[in-house]
Amino acid sequence: MSGRKTWTAWPCWAQGAPYDFLKAAELHNHICPGLTSGYLLAHFILEHYPLAPEERYTIVSSPVWCKEDALQVILDCTPGKKGLVVKSLSKAQKEKISVPNPAGFLLIWNTKTKTGKGAALSFDFKEFKALYPENTPKAASLLSTIPHLKTPERFVSVAREFTLDETRYKAMIQASTNPYRVAGLMAK
Ligand SMILES: [Zn+2]
Repeated sequence: MSGRKTWTAWPCWAQGAPYDFLKAAELHNHICPGLTSGYLLAHFILEHYPLAPEERYTIVSSPVWCKEDALQVILDCTPGKKGLVVKSLSKAQKEKISVPNPAGFLLIWNTKTKTGKGAALSFDFKEFKALYPENTPKAASLLSTIPHLKTPERFVSVAREFTLDETRYKAMIQASTNPYRVAGLMAK
């Protein structure tokens, strides 16, 4: 694997980091709090929004940070399968989002009935970063956060749920739209 930096996973593995975390870290090519936030978001989704037959997940990543690489590995929502739609926002756009700690959207779409629902998710970094001392190196933060990987509800919450028809679903995932605007979660 020339050209790729190497990362050392063994201390995390030895401390009990789960297999799917290590797989996410392999793709992301480093370990950091942002990746861990993605792990927590993914497991929150699996726990609280299990899929019924004919349903599929689409993650709308917005704003974008390291979390996306854990979300795609754990939920099998890869960009190639149209499971991950990445939408960067400007600083001005982010400032207008009307829900706290925005961490993107989960869309659940029923391919048979052509209906679905969306959830705007929040991630509380203040609560998360309180788990380790301020100057902890990013990778080492995991050693403090591993014991909390089983309780994503402590950090992840649902800011808003909404229904999706085909028009809104397409508007959420298409290029050139701001998904917070489509979901009605932007200040004027
Ligand atoms: Zn990262």
